[in-house]
Amino acid sequence: MPPHASTVRSATTPALVIGAGPTGLSAAYHLGEDAVLLEQCDRVGGWCRSVEDHGFTFDYAGHIMFSQDPYVHEMYAMLLGDNVHWQDREAWIYSKQVYTRYPFQGALYGLPADVITECIVGAIEARFGPLAPARVPAEPDAGSDYSGPDRRGMFEPLLHGHGGGSKLAYIGVERRRPKLGKGAPRNFEEFIYKVWGAGIAKHFAIPYNRKLWAVPLEEMETSWLGGRVPLPNLEEMIEGALSPAAKPMGPNARFGYPLRGGFQALMDGFLPHLGDRLRLSTRVARIAPRRHRATLDDGSTVDYDYLISTMPLPALVDIVDGAPEEIVAAAAALRHVSVRCVNLGIGREALTDKHWIYYPEDTVFHRIFVQGNASPHTNAPGGFGLICEITYSDAKPLPCDGDALIRRCIDDCRRVGLVREDDPVWAANQVDLPVAYVVYDHERAANVQRIRDWLQQHDIALAGRYAEWEYYNSDHAFIAGRNAARRVRELRQSEYMGFPRAASLSSR
Ligand SMILES: Cc1cc2nc3c(=O)[nH]c(=O)nc-3n(C[C@H](O)[C@H](O)[C@H](O)COP(=O)(O)OP(=O)(O)OC[C@H]3O[C@@H](n4cnc5c(N)ncnc54)[C@H](O)[C@@H]3O)c2cc1C
Repeated sequence: MPPHASTVRSATTPALVIGAGPTGLSAAYHLGEDAVLLEQCDRVGGWCRSVEDHGFTFDYAGHIMFSQDPYVHEMYAMLLGDNVHWQDREAWIYSKQVYTRYPFQGALYGLPADVITECIVGAIEARFGPLAPARVPAEPDAGSDYSGPDRRGMFEPLLHGHGGGSKLAYIGVERRRPKLGKGAPRNFEEFIYKVWGAGIAKHFAIPYNRKLWAVPLEEMETSWLGGRVPLPNLEEMIEGALSPAAKPMGPNARFGYPLRGGFQALMDGFLPHLGDRLRLSTRVARIAPRRHRATLDDGSTVDYDYLISTMPLPALVDIVDGAPEEIVAAAAALRHVSVRCVNLGIGREALTDKHWIYYPEDTVFHRIFVQGNASPHTNAPGGFGLICEITYSDAKPLPCDGDALIRRCIDDCRRVGLVREDDPVWAANQVDLPVAYVVYDHERAANVQRIRDWLQQHDIALAGRYAEWEYYNSDHAFIAGRNAARRVRELRQSEYMGFPRAASLSSR
C-alpha cells in the first residue's frame, strides 16, 4: 500500500499533482519519477470510486467505460487486464407509464398517440415552420431558420442526461414557450425548441433537463452539447414511432465495466504503477504560488517546479495565496450541481434487463443506474443493486434527507414498478457528490480562461473535469492527465536546454 500522510515531510518535486481521481492518476503515471501525487481521501479514484455495503458494490453515481480513442483503450487494457466485460447498452426512458428506448425522439413507439403526434408535428415545425398556424400557437420565428449544428440524423448517445431545472416545482409544468430568436439558438432552452421541436420539448427534453440541472435552461449555453446530443432525423423519428426501435447504434452502443470491484477497479489499476509517489489521506491546505510551495494539512510542505491541479477550480482559488480580486470573483461565479445517490440493494435477482433509466416525471430521482447489470459481481448473492441519482443545488434543494430520502426512493421505485411491494431491501445507503455537474452558463468560459491565465503565470496547470470546469468523462480525464504531464515535461525539457519556453501550460 502507498504510504500515508504520516510519512510525508517537507519535500521537493519537479511536478506536484493534486488529486488522485482519473486525471491525477493519469498525470502522475505519465510523469513517472518526476511526480508526487497527493490525495485527500484514503483511496484513489475521485468520483470514479465505489463503496461496498452488505455484499453489494455501488459506484459514486453510475459509471461506465466508453471511448473512441485507441489510447484510452490501451489504458483500459493496462488497468484492468481481463477484469472487464463489454455489453450492449440498454438505456431507457420511463414516462407516461411506458418504457421507451433512449433517445426519446428516436423511439416514440408505445407512447400515447397524441404524444407521438405532438412530437412529430413539433419536429417538423421546428424544421419547416408552423404547419397550421391555427393548430399551434403562432411562433413565426420559431426555429425554422436554423439548420441545426448537424442534421445528418445521427442519434448520438447521451449517457448522463443533462438538462436542467430550477425548482422542483418546474417539473412537468409547461411554464411557457419561449420567444425564439432568429438564427442559431442563444441558449439551451432555445436549442431544445429549435432542434427537437415543441412536442419533444414538452414531453421529455424540458421536464427532464429542468429536473437534472438546477438553473433555468435559458441561463445555459450549448457548447457542451456537441457530440452528446441526439439530433432528430424526421425519417428515423417516424420509423421509431411506428415500430419498436432497434438496438442502439453509435459510439457507446457498447460499453465496458470492470467485472469485479466496481468502477473502483479501473482506478486501482494505477496503484502498481505509482509506488511511493502516491500519498493518500494528504490534503493540500495552502499554496504559495510565488514560492512554488504547497502546505499540507499536517503542516509539512512540498516545493515544486510545476503544479498540476485536478481539484475543483473554486476550491483551488480558495487555497492559493494572493489571488487578485477578479480571480476570486471569477471563481465564485462558477456554478455547479450536486448529486446525491441513494443506493439500494434489493433482495431479488434481475429486477430489470436495463442498464439505466431516465425519469422525466415526478420521481425524486432523474435517473436510476442499474448497478446490478453493470456487472453481476456487484450484487450480493440473490440480490440486485440500484443507484437512484438525485441532483440538487441551492435553487433546487433535496426535498428531504437521511432515512426520509431513502424511504422516498424506495417508494418511487415501487411506484414506477421497478421494485415490488414485497421485495426486501437488504442494503440502503447514500453517497454525496457535492460538485458533480459543472453548469455551462454564459459566463463560464470567460471566467475559467481568466483564472487559468493567472494560474499559468505561476506554473500551475489545470487538468480534469472540475479543474478545467469542463464536461469530461473519465476517458477525457485520462487524456487530460496525460496532456498535462506532457506539457510539464516539455517545459522542463526546454528549461533544461536553456531555451525559452517551448510550450505553454495551457491545453488550449
Ligand atoms: C453523476 C456522474 C456520472 C458520471 N458518469 C460517468 C461515466 O459513466 N463514465 C465516465 O467515464 N465518467 C463519468 N463521470 C465523470 C467522472 O466521474 C469524472 O470525469 C471524473 O471523476 C473526473 O476526474 P478528475 O480526476 O478530473 O476529478 P475527481 O474525480 O473529482 O478527482 C479529484 C480528486 O482530487 C482530490 N482532491 C480535491 N481537493 C484536494 C486537496 N485539497 N488535496 C488533495 N486532494 C484533493 C479529490 O479527493 C479527488 O479524489 C460521471 C460523473 C458524474 C458526476
